[in-house]
Amino acid sequence: MKIIIIGAGYVGLVQGVCLAELGNQVRCVDIDKEKIEKLKKGISPIYEPGIEELLKRNLKLGRIVFDTAIKSHMAGNEMIFIAVGTPPEEDGHADLKYVLAAAEEIGKNLSHYQIIANKSTVPIKTGQLVRETIAKFYKGDFDVVSNPEFLKEGSAVDDFMHPDRVVIGYAGNKEAAEKVAALYAVLGTPALITDLETAEMIKYASNSYLAAQISFINSLANICEKAGANIEDVARGMRMDERIGKKAFLGAGIGYGGSCFPKDVKSLIQIARDYKNDFKILEESEKVNKIQRLKFIERIKNKLGNLKGKKIAVWGLAFKPRTDDIRDAPSVTIVEGLLDLGAKIFAYDPVSENNFRKIAPDVNFCSSSLDACEEADALVIITEWSEFRQADLEKVREKMRNPIIFDGRNIYSLPRMKELGFKYISIGRPEV
Ligand code: NAD
Repeated sequence: MKIIIIGAGYVGLVQGVCLAELGNQVRCVDIDKEKIEKLKKGISPIYEPGIEELLKRNLKLGRIVFDTAIKSHMAGNEMIFIAVGTPPEEDGHADLKYVLAAAEEIGKNLSHYQIIANKSTVPIKTGQLVRETIAKFYKGDFDVVSNPEFLKEGSAVDDFMHPDRVVIGYAGNKEAAEKVAALYAVLGTPALITDLETAEMIKYASNSYLAAQISFINSLANICEKAGANIEDVARGMRMDERIGKKAFLGAGIGYGGSCFPKDVKSLIQIARDYKNDFKILEESEKVNKIQRLKFIERIKNKLGNLKGKKIAVWGLAFKPRTDDIRDAPSVTIVEGLLDLGAKIFAYDPVSENNFRKIAPDVNFCSSSLDACEEADALVIITEWSEFRQADLEKVREKMRNPIIFDGRNIYSLPRMKELGFKYISIGRPEV
């Protein structure tokens, strides 16, 4: 199939290289010239396991090309995916300017029937808005479907190739949805076909539900700390209930971040308000999440006293492991908070240093987790990268001036930390 993808970010690029890998002819278009130049050379502008290999192979095979405009790729094209950003506006509504600009561009360049599939996360009824925008410029026949994206950064390629679900929403012409479903059929996951509004809602509902689970367990963790219970065992016990489930999102920590959960929660709160409803559970989840980061800073301050001039090692800056994405990451709030209190930050992250450097030039970046700990007054763990779980903690203790660890992700067991002689403060578990 001949496919155009508008937006070559985390979603568009993964969709592009994976569809090319499945044998389709893909044109990936982005207004960011620098990004397109890199991609043409086979360099991925983002870190995502497996992506560069697929990019290079499909470039070589001529199954994917990159450009800054759709114009010259429209002839014979069958399907256009919109995968541009939908950042939050000041009041929390999703900003649709990129989606509507893409729709306008499509309308101006359409000359035959094509299916326009929206992958960006958008408020309910945006599908209709996209249709109206295209129709202003193109009077012929076309269909708009919603195909929300469920990939997880860090395992995006694998998520594409082995999806839990494929959701496609349509208005009017079911055949359009079936044609999009056929594109994914080879992956073996049957598509859930719904109306447009339902598909758009499934995406917000899923992310908001997961975010609420995280805030639930973090609220519980804060009580466990005071009551002397252990949140890890509490979560383990909860997961044994089949109605809750083995994979329930119940990892206590410093809260959720990234480019999706925070903005999607905000957006769903606003959608509810637009329909004269409120969504108090989500409003509280958002508050709990904000406070969780601040509580962590407060705890560090309370334990260490005056932070002025203190050297703090920070492990992990990405909003989660296996990605370089730092959008709305807890690290941003925590590092800024510690810097404001006068601490000197020595940070290490396997892949997100370049992104973080742009927003926090006062941070000293280290080339290894061990280097960051040299003469440190404390170690703060923000992202649960696997390499931190396997770190040589005896060496870490020897390097540090003061062997105290604040673990925002509960990556070590309490008995182990006791044995190693660390003072160890984690989330929702007794202090060691
Ligand atoms: P991103 O910021 O990484 O990428 C968006 C890209 O679109 C950018 O490269 C930008 O230059 C480009 N762009 C903007 N306007 C354009 C236009 N008119 N023409 C061509 N290119 C244009 O964003 P992302 O993380 O890929 O997210 C895209 C959408 O997918 C968002 O709505 C997001 O909520 C949703 N989503 C993201 C994820 C994720 O994990 N990142 C997962 C599921 C859904």
